[in-house]
Amino acid sequence: MNKLTTLAVAVALSLSGSLCAAQSHAADRSYDPATSDAKSAQSSSDRSIWLGDDEHSWVSAGDVGATSDDLAAAVEALVDQLTDDELVIEVQRDQAGNNWAVVLGGYCETESSCVQYTRMVSLEEQVSGADIAGDSGAAAKQTGQPQHFKLSVVPTALPSVDMANVVVQAQVEPFRGNQPSLAGDADVRRVQQGLVAKGISTTVDGWYGDGTTAAYATWQRRLGYTGLDASGIPGPGSLASLGQNRFVLTNKIIVGARTEFSGKRVNARTRSMLSEAQRLFGRTIAITQGSYNAGGVGASAGTHDGGGVIDLSVSALSTTQRWQLVKALRRVGFAAWWRTPAQGNWNDHIHAVAIGDTDMSLSARNQVADYYVGKNGLANHEADNTPSAYRVAFTWWEKY
Ligand SMILES: [Zn+2]
Repeated sequence: MNKLTTLAVAVALSLSGSLCAAQSHAADRSYDPATSDAKSAQSSSDRSIWLGDDEHSWVSAGDVGATSDDLAAAVEALVDQLTDDELVIEVQRDQAGNNWAVVLGGYCETESSCVQYTRMVSLEEQVSGADIAGDSGAAAKQTGQPQHFKLSVVPTALPSVDMANVVVQAQVEPFRGNQPSLAGDADVRRVQQGLVAKGISTTVDGWYGDGTTAAYATWQRRLGYTGLDASGIPGPGSLASLGQNRFVLTNKIIVGARTEFSGKRVNARTRSMLSEAQRLFGRTIAITQGSYNAGGVGASAGTHDGGGVIDLSVSALSTTQRWQLVKALRRVGFAAWWRTPAQGNWNDHIHAVAIGDTDMSLSARNQVADYYVGKNGLANHEADNTPSAYRVAFTWWEKY
């Protein structure tokens, strides 16, 4: 036979619906997306298209499914169908600028000379630039000899991931469900794609919920992190590692070294935030409990175990000043509440959580989630009792 049956799978997950089948495929002679008249005849219910002399069976995106896991499963199933002298499989994914491809190829130049080659681009690798392996040519043109090698792909520009957006979603959404109004779903999706590419299962949906938290914690443990460093809240090290050859981090959150403010232990980021809040408030801020204080104060229920969490003295302040301090803290990116003896086993104080702190404990994380939806961050999750004049829009330090 001088015609190879070609099975092509094109998966377009882009909301825009664009299917960039032509990208990175210049060398693939068995599939010419430029033959647009043939391509346009294809419909989602049509399993075959004809390009030149080659017959292509077509599986639509809807047949494959919407997630990276689905895509990987589809690739696997199709690769299993390969026999020695048939089939070209092409799988593409085009979503938010990310293209992924596995290309297995073959064609016949003459009746007696069929060329087979296999070019595999790992799903772990982003394909957004030129295929520098070039024409399958010399390397791959070995009649009857399937070859397996990885394409070298030089990305023209890696997509960016806004770290602050990802971390804030990671702190709000596990406890409070998907919050479409929080920016950064595309950033979260890239992180989820990265996890899947590392073989860690999670749904690629832009929602940083419990599933993604658990998946991310798996990634952190794999890198050797333990304890609060493997909480599922992304830190700059694990994110940079996940993003290698995949995305670049912007708007990084760096909590910095442990230091002191008002004689209590905090990290450098928290100290900067407190300095600015103090400037806004116009009076000296006194800290009664700092961060990284595991087991220090039972009534704190673990919220001070990690970074970003402090208690402030209000004993020298009037009622109005207490609310003004709450507001100053909120303006620079703390979730802050005035706690009263009626609420728990404590004196009047202000409890504050630095939103976006990557060292924070999960109980503090859940307080950020409560704050986001206007709750008090206590076990009863009642409404925030802060007067409206002292509330500000949800924000964080990197945004300040
Ligand atoms: Zn506290």
